[in-house]
Amino acid sequence: MKTDLVLLHAPSVYDFRKKSIMFGPMSDLVPSTPIFEMYPIGFLTMANYLSRRGMKVRIVNLAYRMLADNNFDAEKFIKALDPAAFGIDLHWLPHCQGSIEVSRIVKKYHHGTPIIFGGFSSSYFYKELMEFDQVDYIIKGDSAEEPLYQLIGAIRSGNRNSLKDIPNLVWKEDDKIYDNPITNISRDLSEIDFDYRFMFKEVLKYRDIKSIVPFIDWFRYPITTIPVVRGCNNDCCGCGGSRSAFKRFGGRTKPSFRDPEKLVDEIKMIQKHIKAPVFLLGDLNNNGNEYVRDFFKYAKSLDREIQIFFEFFKPPDNSFFDMAADTFSNVCYEISPDSHSEDIRKKMGKSFSNKDLKTSIKYALDSGAVRFDLYFMTGLPGQTKESIDETVDYCKDIFEYTGWDSRFMPFISPMAPFLDPGSRAFENPEKFGYRLIRRTLKEHIEAITMPSWKYILNYESMSISTDDLVDATYCAAMGLNRLKGKSGGISKELMAANQERIIRAQKVMAEIDDIMKIKDRVSREEKLKDLKEKTNKYSLSTVCEKKELEFPLFSRRFNWIEIIKSMLGRSSRA
Ligand code: SF4
Repeated sequence: MKTDLVLLHAPSVYDFRKKSIMFGPMSDLVPSTPIFEMYPIGFLTMANYLSRRGMKVRIVNLAYRMLADNNFDAEKFIKALDPAAFGIDLHWLPHCQGSIEVSRIVKKYHHGTPIIFGGFSSSYFYKELMEFDQVDYIIKGDSAEEPLYQLIGAIRSGNRNSLKDIPNLVWKEDDKIYDNPITNISRDLSEIDFDYRFMFKEVLKYRDIKSIVPFIDWFRYPITTIPVVRGCNNDCCGCGGSRSAFKRFGGRTKPSFRDPEKLVDEIKMIQKHIKAPVFLLGDLNNNGNEYVRDFFKYAKSLDREIQIFFEFFKPPDNSFFDMAADTFSNVCYEISPDSHSEDIRKKMGKSFSNKDLKTSIKYALDSGAVRFDLYFMTGLPGQTKESIDETVDYCKDIFEYTGWDSRFMPFISPMAPFLDPGSRAFENPEKFGYRLIRRTLKEHIEAITMPSWKYILNYESMSISTDDLVDATYCAAMGLNRLKGKSGGISKELMAANQERIIRAQKVMAEIDDIMKIKDRVSREEKLKDLKEKTNKYSLSTVCEKKELEFPLFSRRFNWIEIIKSMLGRSSRA
């Protein structure tokens, strides 16, 4: 049976193996590299949705394949595929160049095969995206599963008459673009499954384990993610997953939280196959105390020893930490205050106080948390160089308050590369103290291939020059690094290595600035090419070592018997 749909995940920049780009700290605080090789979690829900309805779907993480093997020939690989349709994600905007380039290659070898785009950025830029000849369809909004199922059905049957009835679909006919209304917005997500067994089944079906790997170091650190919610109650000004952004690109007016019993079942199922850290994506507290209590009621049936991360959008009630400590013995927490300044935090769209934050951290640590991570950002509305510097003093104060507890771990990174399209700051930059220097999709495609993150940014702040923003980010990262070294959160050796890397990264940024002053384009590009080795080396783990983000002393175990059982059981049902 022919594959109905191949879902392709492109690298952020298609020819990253040739280009010299100092991506810097853009991806330091997520598991993937600056190539953003981690495919969207929606690939899994769409693949599950379609395959449970009898369709054959394959996920191909092209970005991972290209990153893991320098000799991997992406073009040859694409040429050999032969599905009824290709799906390409353009979810987060940094993928704009890579996704478009991959779609161009797909069309080169598969002229008659439809290409479907989807994801937040595809939805936002749908008009511009449809101008590319190779793009045949876009599914808009955040609930693509059912529209995609209907579209693949129409493609398989050749019934173009049904296209006008498929919700959320943008399509072309005779050079005319049709834009069906977004009427499919999942309200309770009951039809959505984060069933990781799909991955195992894929390995057996296509004899290809590499194409399904989520990110570069996953076999060493096989963390799995379970989203709690679609949408968000909050409206942080630069966030593409905020309330305003969801409404703008997908018509969603309120978030949908998942059934807590189902969340627990999914964690149980994952743990049966892979004993490794689980990250609950989204704040359970955002759906009220009853929801939190329900989650912990069902979670009592989980193994107490599992390694679990919870994230908060604001400091929770202490009762959360009590319930978590009562249920699990290995819990990590994280929260993003963005700035130490309550004023700046408020401009961002978050209104909790420093007092609440500090007491919450202390209570969580006293309740036995394995770690508490705090995430700060630079480039925020109204944020000056001095304010960024003060982040270090603020964290020192928390360290002193907690008795230099090594389980408290602060991090900082820039709001980079982009203010997200659809966010309040992107739509109304002046109100938040920004000048937007790139607005269209084409401008962002051009931006992402610029030689360093300083030139990639799509905004300028009216409170700090871009040069100062770069300097202050690296300096604050160095300050936090010293604090973590002092507390014992990281070893002295790691602290020294981080410091050395940050200093070298600053030097590479300065070298790029000098090269950018060269008027002659050819010699400028030659010199940039010579920096390739350095930009590669100092674009990873710049503001901190990536391993600092991992669950402390995590353990992992693949239960191969269960994995093989799932492969066979599931594949015989499909
Ligand atoms: S950054 Fe703010 S708006 Fe965006 S998902 Fe987090 S809490 Fe919601």
